[in-house]
Amino acid sequence: MADGKEDNTRYIFVTGGVISSLGKGIASASIGRLMIAHDLGVALLKFDPYINVDPGTMNPYQHGEVYVTDDGAEADLDLGHYERFTDRPTSRLSNATTGMVYGAVIEKERRGDYLGGTVQVIPHITDEIKSRLHKLAAAAGANVVIVEIGGTVGDIEGLPFLEAIRQFALDVGRRRCVFIHLTLVPYIGGAGELKTKPTQHSVRELRAIGIQPDVLICRTARPLDDATRAKIALFTNVPLEAVVEAVDTDNIYDIPLRLRKQNLDGLILERLDLPAGEGDLSGWEDMLERMRHPGGEVDIAVVGKYTGLRDSYKSIIEALAHGGIAAAARVNVRWVESTDLEGDADQAPCFDGVGGILVPGGFGERGIEGKIAAARYARENGIPYLGICLGLQVAVIDAARAAGLEEAYSMEFDVDCRDPVICLMDEQKKVTRMGGTMRLGAYPCVLVEGSRAARAYGAAEVSERHRHRYELNNEYREALAAAGLEVTGASPDGLLAEVVELSNHPWFVAVQFHPELKSRPLAPHPLFAAFVAAAYAAGGRTYSPEERAASKIPL
Ligand code: GLN
Repeated sequence: MADGKEDNTRYIFVTGGVISSLGKGIASASIGRLMIAHDLGVALLKFDPYINVDPGTMNPYQHGEVYVTDDGAEADLDLGHYERFTDRPTSRLSNATTGMVYGAVIEKERRGDYLGGTVQVIPHITDEIKSRLHKLAAAAGANVVIVEIGGTVGDIEGLPFLEAIRQFALDVGRRRCVFIHLTLVPYIGGAGELKTKPTQHSVRELRAIGIQPDVLICRTARPLDDATRAKIALFTNVPLEAVVEAVDTDNIYDIPLRLRKQNLDGLILERLDLPAGEGDLSGWEDMLERMRHPGGEVDIAVVGKYTGLRDSYKSIIEALAHGGIAAAARVNVRWVESTDLEGDADQAPCFDGVGGILVPGGFGERGIEGKIAAARYARENGIPYLGICLGLQVAVIDAARAAGLEEAYSMEFDVDCRDPVICLMDEQKKVTRMGGTMRLGAYPCVLVEGSRAARAYGAAEVSERHRHRYELNNEYREALAAAGLEVTGASPDGLLAEVVELSNHPWFVAVQFHPELKSRPLAPHPLFAAFVAAAYAAGGRTYSPEERAASKIPL
């Protein structure tokens, strides 16, 4: 609109009602996949009403994983769903928070941009929100921009965003916008009934703000019966055919197909006045078929300290499942709390029967000796190991200790340690502010020819995303190599170790970057594919023909 370029862009707004965690992110991502099936270019944007500038400074228990984009934004984990479902990269423009919006407005106010005026939520905050939407639309050049509003309708902090999208639809024209509202239709066991009241209330709330939803997606434990559907349509003023159900499922990748079965794509396209052909989801269907009929299964231990909250490891879990698609194996994740491996703990039962051990990224000292112990266990027992970020750093500490440097440690946990095999990166030494100050985003990495990593990628140079402050201390490279731990990938100038491998081990690869962020179901990450294949070969179980024929749902 702003520059006339995006005049034909269509917008799909996704709001949520009743309770949080209904799966708005996955619904938005699934809609993205449906639009792609119709050959439309899509871009997604998530508005988060919280006041933090980004989730980078939040505890994983608060917010789950921090997703990192190529251009180095620390963003909401829903961007991970967007990338996995649409197979397209997101960017800094794909996520905006109340903190960012207010930050920008306050900066302008101090600069004098509003000199003489009173700065207010309407129009200044709402204008800033709208401008972010225009900016993404212009940069992405997509046919359809899908905008997810975080939080639940009725929250105080979400109001400016809802007001902004209401205005936005007036600005660009209502026929270029679809409002989709995700609600909950709970099943009350005692009454044996699905209840529509929460949906009625939440739509009423939305209408009070001036937004009439075009489509309802009703999250429910049981399929909606005709009477329930009719009642919802009547009370919410949404056409019967636009009351769509989203029944709980174990496999999120099935959701685009379930939505298409109810013609959600057709409804959206019609509403947006876009040509509605058949749409091609065959590649997606093939992927699901492969996922459902693996040749066997393998247990993989994931050793972390936020294992109580699975959202902290969202991309890791998904990337393992993708690796399973590539290796034709169902991956069962065994969660191991790193603190359970510490002290005199008997580690063997934790790892009994696993085909592989993965140590993911993390921060802080708690549980660190347990992670080091996990790397040691994998090294000593020849169990395939994939270390990611902190998982590389603990593997380095373990190898150094095994080589006789008994006090090897990371400066993250003890700045004065005797052998700081992991040290602060030079560029990090001056940093005093938290938030957005780590080494973030995509950087190139050159791989040593013939290394496991190079073979897995089938490439000599790759680009991967980062989020760390510490690095392998180059002064110890020789000592580590003598112990069998080789640097097999580094920054193009050779100075920053990006990949290490144990040469005398069946499969032991650790990386300073986060490969999980780039894995997609249609394009499993090569390192995850190779790791799962190695784990499956080492400790997997092949299914009998009968088991194989039975549908397996791995997620
Ligand atoms: N805490 C480590 C660092 O800052 C590892 C970070 C991570 O695992 N993402 O370098």
